[in-house]
Amino acid sequence: MNLQQPTVRTGFKIVCTDCGNLSIKPTDPAHASDDTVIECRRCSAVRGTMADLQVLARRGRDLFEF
Ligand SMILES: [Zn+2]
Repeated sequence: MNLQQPTVRTGFKIVCTDCGNLSIKPTDPAHASDDTVIECRRCSAVRGTMADLQVLARRGRDLFEF
């Protein structure tokens, strides 16, 4: 059995590689699909997709529920 790594590996960039900002543009989940692109709030660089974000949320929850 492998222990889970504390870091979550998805395609989602938690920190913008272009400007170093943590903020993302707010997305309405009701109108977003897995393919919806999440953009940096500051420079509009692509940070990932809704699917990436959901993986992040799911894995994050797993890490704290032992
Ligand atoms: Zn940015």
